[in-house]
Amino acid sequence: MALEGADLRQALRDIEADCKARKLRLTVSRRRVLEVLLASEGPLKAYDIIEQYDTPKPKPPTVYRALQFLVDEGLAHRIEQINAYVPCRVSDHGMAAFLICDTCHHVEEYAAPRPNLDKGNFQVSQWVIEGVGTCGACLTQT
Ligand SMILES: [Zn+2]
Ligand SMILES: [Zn+2]
Repeated sequence: MALEGADLRQALRDIEADCKARKLRLTVSRRRVLEVLLASEGPLKAYDIIEQYDTPKPKPPTVYRALQFLVDEGLAHRIEQINAYVPCRVSDHGMAAFLICDTCHHVEEYAAPRPNLDKGNFQVSQWVIEGVGTCGACLTQT
C-alpha cells in the first residue's frame, strides 16, 4: 500500500503531530526516511532507502540511525526475515505481527496479542512474529 501525493502528505502531517504530542524530534533525515518507506510498495532495505532518497544522498550511518529511531518509536518496523523495513501501518498496537509473501514480498502488518510466555526470570526484550508463505493474490495466480 504505497502512499503518494495528498495521501502521503496527510500521513506525514499526522505523524508529525503524533511526534509533537509525544515530544519526539522528527529531524529532516528521520522524516525523509519515513517518507521513502511510506511511498514504497513493499519493504525496503537500508540501501534501497538510500537509492530512493533525493540528492544529496545521505551517508549510510545517517539512514541507519534514522531507521533505529523510527523502529524504537514504533513508527516503522524491521522485518527480521528479510532484513528490511516497513512503516507502521497499524495504529495503537501492543505487538506487531507480519505475514510475508515469499513470492511477491508483500508484507502485511497485524496487531497481535502478546504471547503469554514471559515465565520465570526471563525478560523478553523483543518479540518477532513473522509468518512466511504465499499471499492471497499470489495463490489465485497459480
Ligand atoms: Zn506497527
Ligand atoms: Zn504474494
